Amino acid sequence: MNLDKNSLFFLENYINNFSPVSQEYKGQILWLEYIKKYIDQHYSDYYGNTVAIIKGNSNFKFVIEAHADEISWYVNHISDDGFIYVIPNGGSDCMIAPSKKVLIHTKEKGLIKGVFGWPAIHFRRSNKEKIIPSYENIFIDTGFNNKKNLLKAGVSVGDIVTYEENFSVLNNNYYVGRAFDNRIGGFIIAEVAKLLSLEKITLPFDLYIVNSVQEEIGLKGAKMIANKINPDIAIITDVTHDTTTPMIDQKRHGNIICGKGPVLTFAPSIHNILNKYIENFSLKYKIPIQKQACSYSTGTDTDSFAYTKNGIPSSLISLPLRYMHTTVEMIHISDVKNCINLLFNVLKDFDINFNLKYF
Ligand SMILES: [Zn+2]
Repeated sequence: MNLDKNSLFFLENYINNFSPVSQEYKGQILWLEYIKKYIDQHYSDYYGNTVAIIKGNSNFKFVIEAHADEISWYVNHISDDGFIYVIPNGGSDCMIAPSKKVLIHTKEKGLIKGVFGWPAIHFRRSNKEKIIPSYENIFIDTGFNNKKNLLKAGVSVGDIVTYEENFSVLNNNYYVGRAFDNRIGGFIIAEVAKLLSLEKITLPFDLYIVNSVQEEIGLKGAKMIANKINPDIAIITDVTHDTTTPMIDQKRHGNIICGKGPVLTFAPSIHNILNKYIENFSLKYKIPIQKQACSYSTGTDTDSFAYTKNGIPSSLISLPLRYMHTTVEMIHISDVKNCINLLFNVLKDFDINFNLKYF
């Protein structure tokens, strides 16, 4: 399969747009605008969880899901000399912050530019003077030289801070960008809806295409929306770590590599029969897959769906990704296509009478 021009245009826009945890609405509006022509109904809830529905031939509810939020920072303190101190909004990494360009999303005066400053190497030459970026010491410089000027410009405690980095293509193999985690999942489920619509497929169930909020602070949006929908089955999409880049111990973290296909996970929240069912589709349609195991939690919205109400059979299709939670996350183009392909074929052929009980 190939992604057409419109799909790629949407992907680039969607990734370049901002969708910080708790303020995902701009991304959600963009996503909904794109998916609208391929669906029958849609709604959103008070926190911004967004649901698109393709009506089928029964009341059986099948969810495919992604999370829409991106990690960011909150303005926490403004010093008298005009430096801004931040706290993470999601798992933002202080190690990569220094020298990054940022945008401060003020509540009333739009975007203000800034940079994460850092003492020059000349001040850090001896071991004694070694300074490591930490949540306590990283700071933003806006060029407004004091607190009064910053407040006048509209910056205040609680403003969100995001990175400026944008989408790009690396040597025709990889996409590079900010927060593919997990807006690439939003793209994948939207493309699945598009394929179902273009191929005029009527499903034997209602398909709920869910873009959840607030995953990065503990799978929170999915909890809300799983309870509301109470589906019969859920397949979650997210990203997972490519473990083959330098300094990652594969003995501890498994062997997952970009370009070798979607990843199926083995964990208590993943329903084994559903997982096997998906694996069989990968064999049937000759889509390469990889496997990983997780102790306790998958750390994804799968857990929110699985542990809702009486337990919802749930599975996870993950896309391998390099450099998670940096501004240069890398994903292989073939993996994106294979994730779309796998999910599309699972839905297209899914038998709602398939027995998901162990005994
Ligand atoms: Zn994440």
